Amino acid sequence: MFDYHAPTDLLKDRVILITGASDGIGKACALSCAAHGATVVLIGRSLSKLEAVYDQIEAAGQPQPAICVLNLETATEKDYEDLADQLFDSFGRLDGLVHNAALLGGPRTPFEQIKTEDWLQAMQVNVNAPFLLTKAMMPLLRVAGDASVVMVSSSVGRTGRAYWGPYAVSKFALEGMMQVLADEQDGTSNIRVNSVNPGATRTAMRAKAYPAEEPETNPEPAAIMPVFLYLLGADSREINGQALNAQ
Ligand code: NDP
Repeated sequence: MFDYHAPTDLLKDRVILITGASDGIGKACALSCAAHGATVVLIGRSLSKLEAVYDQIEAAGQPQPAICVLNLETATEKDYEDLADQLFDSFGRLDGLVHNAALLGGPRTPFEQIKTEDWLQAMQVNVNAPFLLTKAMMPLLRVAGDASVVMVSSSVGRTGRAYWGPYAVSKFALEGMMQVLADEQDGTSNIRVNSVNPGATRTAMRAKAYPAEEPETNPEPAAIMPVFLYLLGADSREINGQALNAQ
C-alpha cells in the first residue's frame, strides 16, 4: 500500500470536488477527505446515494459537504460552467479535483466486437466529462494557493490489455490528459496534476469486471486512501505529472 500517514487536519480549509462520490472509491475518498478537514463537493447521478454520504459526513461532525447531481453521460458544457459559477459563489476557489467516476463501457470483448455505443459511452463519461469539468474548474483552481487535480486511472490505462477495449483506451486518454495538463503548469503555477491507479479494489465495478473473483481478496476502498490524501494535501506540492499507484 502507498506509504503515507496523513495528519488529521491535512485538508483543513480545502474545498475538494470528487466525481462518483456516491459509491466505491469515490465515496471512500469523500469520507476520507472530510475526515481530514476538507469541505467536499459530492458529484454523482443519484441524489439519494449522495445524500447518504452527506449524512454520514454530517453525523461525524465534519465540514458540511455540498451535493451536485450531475449525470456525466449527458451533462453539457453549460452544466459544468454553471457548477463552476455556483462553487465560485459558495467557496471562491477549488483546492482539489478528483476525476473518479467512470464506467466499464460494456463487457470485455475482442476489439472488432466492441459495440459502438459502448465505446462512445465510455469516452463520454471517462474522458469527455473530465475534460469539460477540468476546463470549467481551471479558473477556480488557479485562485487556490495549492491546487491538486487527480485523475483516477487503471493498470489497463498504462499498458494495453486484450479485451479491455473502450475502458482501457479511455484510461490511456485520461493519462494523456494528465500529462498534457501537468506539462502546461510552469514554475509559476499553483496547480499540480497527477494520476492514480487504484489497483484491484472491492467495489461494484470490480465485481462486475471479475464476477468469479472472491471480493474479500481485494482491499476495501478505505484502505487505498493514503495516496489520494497525499496528492490532495500540501505534502505533494512538488509532485506534478506523475502516475502513482495506490497499492
Ligand atoms: P464504482 O462503479 O463502484 O463507482 C463508480 C462511481 O462513479 C459511482 O459513484 C457512480 O455513480 C459514478 N458514476 C458512474 N457513471 C456516472 C455518470 N454517468 N455520472 C455520474 N457519476 C457516475 O467504481 P469504483 O469505485 O470501482 O471505480 C472508481 C474509479 O476507480 C474508476 O475511475 C475506475 O475506473 C477506477 N478503478 C477501479 C478499480 C477497482 O478495482 N475497483 C481498479 C482500477 C481502476 P452511481 O453510484 O450512480 O453508480
